[in-house]
Amino acid sequence: MRISIPAIFLALLPCAVQAQQPSLQKLAEGELPSLLAIYKDIHSHPELSAQEQRTSAIVAKELRVAGCDVTENFGKYDKANLKCYGVVGVMKNGDGPTVLVRTDMDALPVQEQTGAPYASKAVSTNPDGKEVPVMHACGHDIHMSAFIGTARMLQRLKDQWHGTVLFIGQPAEEMVGGARALLNGGLYNRFGKPNYCLGMHDDAEIETGKIGVTEGYANANVDSVDVIVKGMGGHGAYPHKTKDPIVMSAEMINAWQTIASRQNNPLDPVVVTVGSIHGGTKHNIIPDEVKMQITVRSYKAEVRQLALAAIAEIAKGVAIAGGLPPDRMPEVNVLKDESVMAMYNNPELTKRVAGALKQALGNDNVISKEPTMGAEDFSEYSMADHSIPAFMFDVGAVDPAKMADSKQNGTPLPSLHSSKFLPVPEPTIRTAIVGMTTAVLELMKR
Ligand SMILES: [Zn+2]
Ligand SMILES: [Zn+2]
Repeated sequence: MRISIPAIFLALLPCAVQAQQPSLQKLAEGELPSLLAIYKDIHSHPELSAQEQRTSAIVAKELRVAGCDVTENFGKYDKANLKCYGVVGVMKNGDGPTVLVRTDMDALPVQEQTGAPYASKAVSTNPDGKEVPVMHACGHDIHMSAFIGTARMLQRLKDQWHGTVLFIGQPAEEMVGGARALLNGGLYNRFGKPNYCLGMHDDAEIETGKIGVTEGYANANVDSVDVIVKGMGGHGAYPHKTKDPIVMSAEMINAWQTIASRQNNPLDPVVVTVGSIHGGTKHNIIPDEVKMQITVRSYKAEVRQLALAAIAEIAKGVAIAGGLPPDRMPEVNVLKDESVMAMYNNPELTKRVAGALKQALGNDNVISKEPTMGAEDFSEYSMADHSIPAFMFDVGAVDPAKMADSKQNGTPLPSLHSSKFLPVPEPTIRTAIVGMTTAVLELMKR
């Protein structure tokens, strides 16, 4: 039988594409034994936000071995008493674009209950001076292991890319001050402004081997607001002789919900949650004040402004309606160091990298993921106007069998931050390395 040459070429083409895949997978495979050892070590020695001394030293050492120029203890928090354990590893490979690759390094005050042989037994002192258990319950240990793996891969694949990779080991993601501390410490002045920023997070709802991608807004703006409602206290039996801050707080809480339902365009997401309310000491005493703590979530800058302004206006309006004098108006405070910008996955960059990820992992293994109102301070690297294109993808960390089980009997899987959240290390780290290496190569290829 005769086969024309073009037909042979066509037949060979898919093999040529596939031939590339095993090589990245294989390279990653070779790094896994030592990366798993690093992962288990970091997992059993977690450190709280802004305390990542040991962890950052490991990241720094490994980046150095992988061929980076490393700066340690980089960054500056607003709070002068905190030491910043930022790590910056620069891998230079001639002229070309600069790509920032970020891992976070901190753990959470959670008592681990995974039963893993390498489970954490660590305790530490939190910022309030209290002893707390510590656990990598968000998988930042996975991120670091894959990040180190990516640095090793890129060092070996230097003939395939050109430019500069900035490897960023970021502290304090969980208290959302870490990225800002690095930027305020002069990250871009000292090491150059990147052309692209890349990040990844493990995912407690996606099975191992798969990567989740969200185009556009993926995580929300977060603002933390403290409100003090000042009343005029007195006897609970004579309310007419008081100005009751508890009743006024109740009115405010309800009225704040109308920000989303009446003031805001319903097509633009916004959440106003009062997470804490404290006031009073006894059944029959009307207190002098009530304290509330609110979290506000949004995507668009104008929605953020609208919600924050409306919270203050409503509080003031209720106080005036309640008959309070001008010197007893509520105090509304937006906490600057507890706010974070929405994470925006640049659509063009997302499409480009997602295309490369599909090539490397197979079409079915790159799935699209809904945005959430959760937070991620990776957003800070792209600047307030999103002028530096950024993209963060999610790496599945769940055993496919457990996933199928959970779907069948409806039992929810442990979420991120759960004491029972345990990624399946090997496939998760491998997919994360292949994913991140592919993304960097796509942006820096020769
Ligand atoms: Zn987290
Ligand atoms: Zn996290």
